[in-house]
Amino acid sequence: MSKNWRPATRLVHAGTSRSPHGETSEAIFLTQGFVYETSESAEARFKGETDGFIYARYGSPTNAMFEERMCALEGAEDARATASGMAAVSAAILCQLKAGDHIVAARALFGSCRWVVETLAPKYGIGCTLIDGRDLDTWEKAVTPATKVFFLESPTNPTLEVVDIAGVAAIANAHGIKVVVDNVFATPLFQKPLELGAHVVVYSATKHIDGQGRCLGGVILSSKDWIDENLQDYFRHTGPALSPFNAWTLLKGLETLPLRVRQQTENAAKIADFLAGRNEVARVIYPGRADHPQADIIARQMTGGSTLVCFELKGGKEAAFAFQNALDVVRISNNLGDAKSLITHPATTTHKNLTEEARQELGISPGTVRFSAGIEDGDDLVEDFARALDAVRA
Ligand SMILES: *Cc1c(COP(=O)(O)O)cnc(C)c1O
Repeated sequence: MSKNWRPATRLVHAGTSRSPHGETSEAIFLTQGFVYETSESAEARFKGETDGFIYARYGSPTNAMFEERMCALEGAEDARATASGMAAVSAAILCQLKAGDHIVAARALFGSCRWVVETLAPKYGIGCTLIDGRDLDTWEKAVTPATKVFFLESPTNPTLEVVDIAGVAAIANAHGIKVVVDNVFATPLFQKPLELGAHVVVYSATKHIDGQGRCLGGVILSSKDWIDENLQDYFRHTGPALSPFNAWTLLKGLETLPLRVRQQTENAAKIADFLAGRNEVARVIYPGRADHPQADIIARQMTGGSTLVCFELKGGKEAAFAFQNALDVVRISNNLGDAKSLITHPATTTHKNLTEEARQELGISPGTVRFSAGIEDGDDLVEDFARALDAVRA
């Protein structure tokens, strides 16, 4: 790969490793194991004296192509592909901690991420403090001598708040703390946490990277040293490896990622502007709009808006349900980043397990709706939204 290739070129070509057949499309290596010419070559491979694959739980050719392409996109030295986004998040956090350590995490987290830090980690003697990630002082104040990891997501799900990643990284570096960023909502195209000072980036590849609703996947990216030291053994021995078939699906997804994300972002911006002009809507939150409360941070750390829009209907749950039910093009689903436009009511689905108080802290009200823009024609989406809002009023 040429160092000068731009992202769209990297996403089509980086990491490709052709077999002797010279296939155009990346091959799927559905194999658990690998054979050795001689006993001596097996011994050398196990000793690490020669390169090559040993067992698919450790690494395999199609997965390696996906990992390399992700590194080329993210500007990371190394990566490990995982079976799901949650396998990536839990491995990235737990692999570097032991009993007695402490995590500080922004409380606005994807539900399962919050469970990992708030419920699972303490079972193993790892403490956790959840804070308002928007306020840099709260990060500093939450640090204890045992703090080893800062964990955050930006923009957050579902209310699209942002965290000042460079600011958080500066605090972390002053205390020798590692920053792990879940970059799903920003996508690797619009935000580069490693360049902003974070140490580890994780993705649910299930979202925009597959982008067509087919398979689960995840990836962890960091420096080669961090992966060798913290993740390598954890990954090999706990087994979160991605299936090679899914690695192939995700490789093909990466080829079209910029095209899809561009169209999704255009559609999201169009819907956000449309909603801002409707009086059934109490509030629209969209990172691409000048009225986002943290527009200054967004301008500093993101190069695009978002494929998601969060908004609040004045009529509460009743209006939100009626609105969703009246949509025709847009489908009700808790997934996001898909080619199909999807809509969800966080209070009764993705965030139903939180207490009412915790939902209020996150800005999730009974009227809050999250929209994930697909790649349809934006005018069809606007017409669908207009019709459904009219139905709410009727
Ligand atoms: C979906 C998602 C996850 C979990 O990913 P899976 O692939 O579903 O396991 C983690 N973080 C964020 C922000 C997500 O949107």
